[in-house]
Amino acid sequence: MEKRALLYSGKAKDVYATDDPNLCIVHFRDSATAFNALKKSEIAGKGELNNLISAHFFDLLASHGVETHFVGSLGPREMLVRRLEIIKVEVVVRNITAGSLAKRLGLPEGLPVTPPVLEYYYKDDTLGDPLVNDSHILSFGWASAAELSTIAAAARQVNDILLPALRKLDLLLVDFKLEFGRHAGRVMLGDEISPDTCRFWDAQTREKLDKDRFRRDLGGVAEAYQEIYRRLKGGTPNV
Ligand code: UDP
Repeated sequence: MEKRALLYSGKAKDVYATDDPNLCIVHFRDSATAFNALKKSEIAGKGELNNLISAHFFDLLASHGVETHFVGSLGPREMLVRRLEIIKVEVVVRNITAGSLAKRLGLPEGLPVTPPVLEYYYKDDTLGDPLVNDSHILSFGWASAAELSTIAAAARQVNDILLPALRKLDLLLVDFKLEFGRHAGRVMLGDEISPDTCRFWDAQTREKLDKDRFRRDLGGVAEAYQEIYRRLKGGTPNV
């Protein structure tokens, strides 16, 4: 597989074309951003950890029949993925109140959300990714009705797979964000699944083991990401 031109550089990942028009290479950087990139830093080893953690989750989801863009790992910081036409909707699933939900509804963090809440955000940095609902998505044509029902079912399925798998590792899956795209006429899961895009709490202590350590200046960011890797894979990568 030959790496070709840089197609897109995001906040924490770069996407390269390959000699196969159907495939791309995603390179995970150490960059960390929060609050719509108002806060920026570099966290040594984060790119490698997010790549390896995402690959682990994509493999787990594939073993349960979830279609994802993940083809395989190419090295510590890179994965080979199917080229997607990204759907401009971010999907958030919530099992426990935290973050913007707690703030918006005036709730404390840590309350169970039963059944889990599904939210959609319009993917537009200049607007700060506003909350939208399914009728906005259909009326503005960001996804068709068939695509939206595939996305909603897939998001719930991902939660049904990850929640118990993480609980066995003494981790609470508080909430997470997914992105989907189109490939060869099908809708599939793209982007990443990592402590940058999920909230993970230790089930016993409720210690935060995710990007909230960076957002809220709690310290120990790299250590938290390493702890997630250690619980998933048992051991530490060479970062
Ligand atoms: N999230 C994300 N990217 C975003 C916004 C949210 O990955 O642009 C993830 C976030 O890490 C959390 C979940 O989606 O796991 C819900 O985030 P929330 O809406 O609470 O946003 P925040 O607290 O970041 O404002």
